[in-house]
Amino acid sequence: MDKLHFLTAGIPTNAKDYTNAFLKLDEMNLDGLEVEFVHGVRYSDKTREAILARNNKLITHHGPYYINLNAQEEDKIQASIKRVLDTARAADDLGAYSITYHAAFYLGQDEKTLMKTMIERHKTIIETLEEENIKVWIRPETTGKKSQWGTLEEIVELSKQFEQILPCIDFAHIHARENGKFNTYDEFCYILDYVAKNLGEIALNNFHGHVAGINYGEKGEKNHLIFEESDFNYQDLLKAFKKFDIKGAIVCESPNIEIDTKILKDYYLSL
Ligand SMILES: [Zn+2]
Repeated sequence: MDKLHFLTAGIPTNAKDYTNAFLKLDEMNLDGLEVEFVHGVRYSDKTREAILARNNKLITHHGPYYINLNAQEEDKIQASIKRVLDTARAADDLGAYSITYHAAFYLGQDEKTLMKTMIERHKTIIETLEEENIKVWIRPETTGKKSQWGTLEEIVELSKQFEQILPCIDFAHIHARENGKFNTYDEFCYILDYVAKNLGEIALNNFHGHVAGINYGEKGEKNHLIFEESDFNYQDLLKAFKKFDIKGAIVCESPNIEIDTKILKDYYLSL
């Protein structure tokens, strides 16, 4: 990628459709959006046309929430694999840069066994995408709840196994999951350095991350907040982005959508 793109999670407030969404982003000098397929991968022809007419805007996809690649029942595993594949097929159809999703829950399983399962399930996903010649980045996300599979280490370890997989680093999730840690310049640098050391410069030059204000407790993530009402230190995160010369997409998931995205971009450009 040529630069860091600032994306809204979903369409901006009050933009009724994608045509209006892209106009609004243009007006605010923002760089694109993440298409939220949270309730299933479907879109009308009209939506498809509006998204394809986005000109120079960048899009990414968020897969359905109802994905658990560690489900106990075979039909649920297959349905979860299909939801990841359908998100990638939509990315191929709409020209999205990258897709992300919450991959699994532990359900009491130990980390080692689950890592093996995750590698196996992702092998099926990647092989299918290769057969279909779909080349989009596939990214399990670092998750915010302790019941969810997806620590930084786990996501990076999985990414090492497949050329087409890279992490989606959700900084708010890591912060929430670790009870308030990972909120300083040094800690953000640690994360980026860890990614670079394990996966190479390609991971920093083709980045996909999430950020938002966040409310959290013992078990991790509770809900997203706007930056102003949260303790999230986005300023130091952006300084770390600058230092590591991150290129790709950072998606802002604050509830006020475009406002916090704009705050991020303006601060970043001021550095
Ligand atoms: Zn997510």
